[in-house]
Parts: sequence; structure tokens; C-alpha cells
Amino acid sequence: MVIKILEKFYDLSYTISEEIPIYPGDPRPSLKPHHTKEKDNFNVTQITMGSHTGTHIDAQTHFLNKGNSIDKEPLSKFIGECVILDFSKEQDIGKGISESDLENYSTLINKGDIVLLYTGTSNKWIKDEGVRTNFSYLEISAANWIVTHNVKCLGIDAPSIERYGTNEGTCHNILLSNEIGIIENINSNLRAFIGKRMFLFCLPLSFKGVDGSPCRAILFELAK
Ligand SMILES: [Zn+2]
Repeated sequence: MVIKILEKFYDLSYTISEEIPIYPGDPRPSLKPHHTKEKDNFNVTQITMGSHTGTHIDAQTHFLNKGNSIDKEPLSKFIGECVILDFSKEQDIGKGISESDLENYSTLINKGDIVLLYTGTSNKWIKDEGVRTNFSYLEISAANWIVTHNVKCLGIDAPSIERYGTNEGTCHNILLSNEIGIIENINSNLRAFIGKRMFLFCLPLSFKGVDGSPCRAILFELAK
């Protein structure tokens, strides 16, 4: 397959700062000067953060006992054609996306696509603390639908695909055990591309043995 992509591209990742909202209970990021221009003639920063900070990829080992850590996850899961689907009706923030919600879009999705869900959670994530524990998520039926429709990677503009407060990780287990990639906390730039088919490059850092990584998710327009 030869894909011609245009030079125009869009960044779907949050800037990581010490102030960025984090999933409740996760480590707060810290960016501390280690060497400084003033003292050492150059700048080096010591970065501390959780592996699921900002826009990030979940490795299989986030929930599975066996599977790929982030350094072993095939990058091919996170690179490819994608479709952007809209679930952003205001009253739906904090609600679950079901199998029948996805079914409405089934004709837009090709085998092997990356599917990016715009829920509107990202519009409120930075400013509205209530959203940190009440964001949109996947219902179990939707996770199963993703598997049966041969989607290779699922992205969402919420901090998790899982309903807040459930630690079982049922939706994570369904997707990760079927080798489906998971990208979480995509930023609100996604809204501009609702209904479009685009090309995504989303790459994690290669942390040895770690369960996830912040990533840079870049959306390209496809040439016609
Ligand atoms: Zn996750």
C-alpha cells in the first residue's frame, strides 16, 4: 500500500507541564532543572512523571500478566489510516459509548483502521475538575465491537477508555489481549476532524519493561 500524505499535520498531544491534569492518584509530573546554563553552561532537566501522563499509549502490560511492555509494542499498531468519530453531544460527557453507538458508524470503518473517538471530554479536561472523575468511556459491548470489526487501534479524548472508579480493567483487557492498541487523553484538536479519514503517527518513547508511555500523536491529511 502506497499512501501519499500531505505536508499539513496536526498535533493531538497535550503539552506536559507540572500543572497538567492527571488521572486521580497518578504521580504528578515534575520538571526540575538539573544542570543550568547559569551554573553549568547548559540546561538539562530532570523529568519525573507517571507512565500514563498526558496523551499516552497503554502497553499490554498495563493490565495483562503477559504481553508487550511499551518497548516491545509493535509501532505498526499506532501508525496508519484512521477515522474520527463523534460522540460529543454535551449530555454524553461522562456516559458510556456502547456497541450500538459504534454501529452507527460501521460503514466508515475499514478492516485494520485506527479509530479515534471524540467525546468532548478533552474540551473540559484542563479546566473542569469534575470531568477528571466523570469522563466518557467505553462500555464492554463497545470494546467487543472494536475486536469483531478488526480495528487495530483505538484512541479516545478521555483519560481512560474505562469507566472511572472501575479497577477491573475489563475494556483494557479485551482490547489489549486482542493486540489492539490504546491511545488515551488525545487533546481537543481532534474535534476539527470529525467524520474525516486521516493518517496517524503516534509514537511512544521506548521505556524498557514499562507499561505505557506519553506519546506524540500527529494527524496528517490524506492526499486525494
Ligand atoms: Zn488505559
